[in-house]
Amino acid sequence: MNVLHVASEVAPFSKTGGLGDVASALPKAQAQLGAQVTVVSALYGSIQATALGLAKRLRTFDVPVGDTTYKVGLFEGSLPGSGPRVPIYFIDHPLFSERPGIYGPPDRPGEDYPDSALRFALLSRAALTLAQELDWRPQVVHGHDWQTAMALYYTKMGALEPVPATVMTVHNLLFKGLCSLETAQKLGVQPEHLSLSGVEFYGQAALIKAGLMFADRVTTVSPNYAREIRTAEFGYGLEGVMQSLGSKLSGILNGADYERWSPWLDPYLPARYGAAPTSTEQLSDADWATLMAGKARCKSELQRELGLPQRLKTPLLATISRLTDQKGIDLIIDFLEQELPETGERSDFQYAIIGVGDPAFEQRLKMLASRYPARLAVRLGYDEALSHRVEAGADFFIMPSRFEPCGLNQLYSMRYGTLPIVRAIGGLLDTVVDYDPRSRSGTGFAFSSYDSVALLSAVRRALATYHGDAGSFISLQRRAMRADFSWSSSAKAYLSIYQQAI
Ligand code: ADP
Repeated sequence: MNVLHVASEVAPFSKTGGLGDVASALPKAQAQLGAQVTVVSALYGSIQATALGLAKRLRTFDVPVGDTTYKVGLFEGSLPGSGPRVPIYFIDHPLFSERPGIYGPPDRPGEDYPDSALRFALLSRAALTLAQELDWRPQVVHGHDWQTAMALYYTKMGALEPVPATVMTVHNLLFKGLCSLETAQKLGVQPEHLSLSGVEFYGQAALIKAGLMFADRVTTVSPNYAREIRTAEFGYGLEGVMQSLGSKLSGILNGADYERWSPWLDPYLPARYGAAPTSTEQLSDADWATLMAGKARCKSELQRELGLPQRLKTPLLATISRLTDQKGIDLIIDFLEQELPETGERSDFQYAIIGVGDPAFEQRLKMLASRYPARLAVRLGYDEALSHRVEAGADFFIMPSRFEPCGLNQLYSMRYGTLPIVRAIGGLLDTVVDYDPRSRSGTGFAFSSYDSVALLSAVRRALATYHGDAGSFISLQRRAMRADFSWSSSAKAYLSIYQQAI
């Protein structure tokens, strides 16, 4: 099966969040199942083409977007990793290469460039023209989030012959790609599709609807989020559209790319530890302890790197996240404000936070870190290498999200033996099983209501387990590390959605 993925970010070339990881891991997993997969993205100013092994193709070609034609260049490379080669093409145009950020100015997180609708319509349309230029016929065009939803619309409107099937994946319904109806028309949306049954959304255009309304199949990144977005609480105004999709909408859980995220392979760690789950099932506790020795070293090195006291027995909590409302950062701050002044054993922990986002959150976190430097380390910025070291060095990973389509860090955390403490919603509910000491089951700690008291009580349970009988903690950690969220079964599920779409 020939599959064309079009995505606005693809790790390790470009990434702001989970979409970048998925747009890299899913195509590789599909290629391993025998599909012929090609990925198309954009050559942003931040992509170091030479260092990443990308080759400039001398050809340029014309891309029609509405009534305007854009001349674009092309770079070619491969997705890194073992397995069959997956080609990736980067569309080169000043709308991408002369911008330092992917979506907006790097110094103003959360803000989009004012011409984002045009930029991503160009990427969407260019991906289809490129398929023609390469004389390659995709049977399925797969778009991700609003940025590449227009690729599905252009496909339906006959940009490629024969017309391929189309699949849209929603990674986050909050981002809709809003622009004026006039802009949408300039980008090539037909006048009859500027209505409610097309892209119209409360007097504007929401480009995400170009995918939702016109793709043959719509998926989202966890079964639970697929249910939630049919409700007003999580649908953000699109719940009616989601309900109207009926069985065309389904949820397929994201996987983790364990080639990049396993503590026994990870090149970023000061010491490696653990081993593939199949080889550890029968290990005695003593052999397991030997295998895990590297984790203590990762913790101690991380504490040193972050300027925290190197105390192995003090539980180290961590969060790596965009610092936005979605991620429950206000709950974390409330929790810290209450707990950092406390001195008793129950409140004895260190906390490491890595993130960028809302300046108000950044400011409050920085202030707390300067008041409690021995307990809280905050690194404001995007740092891939540090994010791996935090996953390895921490004991617990906190994700109190307001909503979470899938979430990847809880999956990475489990694999690193770093127990997730999560709010039981979206993909977090689908992936983390709350610890039950009586039945000795579970892979982490979950709480339901969105408030800092609920978060605090989950953290208290986690810390009590950490300080309690060592056997329970270790067996919880072993279960978490064994949990398998590899891509193979989800990649198969996507192939079967493609068959339906075709
Ligand atoms: P979302 O896509 O909503 O941001 P996910 O949990 O799906 O959330 O994916 C987040 C990804 O981005 C993870 O791989 C996480 O490690 C990474 N990430 C987020 N913030 C940072 C940061 N400041 N530095 C490094 N990696 C980060």
